[in-house]
Amino acid sequence: MTVAPFREAVIDLAALTRNVERLRRVIGTEHTMAVVKANAYGHGAVECATAALAGGADWLGVADIDEALELRAAGIEAPILAWLHDPDADFAPAIAARVDIGISSVAQLRAVAEATGRLAELIGESDPASVQLKLETGLSRNGISEPDWAEVFALAAALEQSGAITVRGIFSHLANASPGDDAAALARFQRGLVAAGASGIVPELVHLAATAAALRVPASRFNLVRVGIGIYGLSPFEDSTSAELGLTPVMTLRGRVAAARRVPPGTGVSYDYTYRTTAESTLVLVPLGYADGIPRQASNGAVVSINGASFPISGRVAMDQFVVDVGSHPVAVGDEVVLFGDPAAGAAAGVPAADDWAAACGTINYEIVTRIGRRVQRSYLR
Ligand SMILES: *Cc1c(COP(=O)(O)O)cnc(C)c1O
Repeated sequence: MTVAPFREAVIDLAALTRNVERLRRVIGTEHTMAVVKANAYGHGAVECATAALAGGADWLGVADIDEALELRAAGIEAPILAWLHDPDADFAPAIAARVDIGISSVAQLRAVAEATGRLAELIGESDPASVQLKLETGLSRNGISEPDWAEVFALAAALEQSGAITVRGIFSHLANASPGDDAAALARFQRGLVAAGASGIVPELVHLAATAAALRVPASRFNLVRVGIGIYGLSPFEDSTSAELGLTPVMTLRGRVAAARRVPPGTGVSYDYTYRTTAESTLVLVPLGYADGIPRQASNGAVVSINGASFPISGRVAMDQFVVDVGSHPVAVGDEVVLFGDPAAGAAAGVPAADDWAAACGTINYEIVTRIGRRVQRSYLR
């Protein structure tokens, strides 16, 4: 018998592949970019990128260039776009690794051109750097703001003429604030596309939508969507579950009971005694804490599943562990505790969802899975 790890995130890669297939069927764009930034939202970047490509994704998206280079180092050849850069970034390694660079400013465009020139001197003839211009359309994060569009488009067109760069795409990102706000952002994006075209820029890729808009705002789809949360089987919507979207949660977070003791009524539990037992009961120790990404806000709130029954966390979540009062339910050291997973999964039906944890902690499912830390062993189901 193999013993399960102490702290484990089981990552169902077959489910991830099916989620990508499902999203592609529903959304129907020519291109699909699987967003695998932040270690694939905590799920494991290289494994998830590979599983997403198997499901028909033809692009990968990351925030940082280092994340893109990690995928290249693992042998992943698919096109990758990186869009968030250090102000002093040297773009040469990204260009040499054929990583598309998201451009949010004139300065970044100049830095890419300069790096291309250096590479050409170093290795002789060099292919143009592939860039994608990111337009600010209302999110107020990065992206080229509208007053700067003319200057950036003119420079980009000139650099393209000179052979230094190829403008492969134009993109932006929505705030999902309200249908009206998103429509205003879409209109601004359309103006940007027209202005770029007037400067002679005709990109192969045009993209605006992440998972939420890809599913609910067809006009935002253009010819590529950037899907993150959906490929991990989680819903970006408050009013729809994974199952209602036809998606399967990919991560199951679990641990094994590290200690169990029978205690009398009135026993204080964990720091500050924010919980006391009300009857004779069994307290079990679960070895995951806030160092592992379990929010301290889950204290006395989030529910876990042990041996087929559900129990809330008792008392404060600590750095490495938390306690659960299981009353008189039979639980022994070594038994499995499921924190969250797929509530729709076969025999184990009824395990909490990442959505339940998000609700209990006053956050969103994105944060629940992405925070899962390094001490938690990832195990991959293929
Ligand atoms: C994270 C991110 C995405 C993916 O968003 P989801 O809501 O997870 O689908 C897409 N585009 C950009 C620019 C992002 O930063």
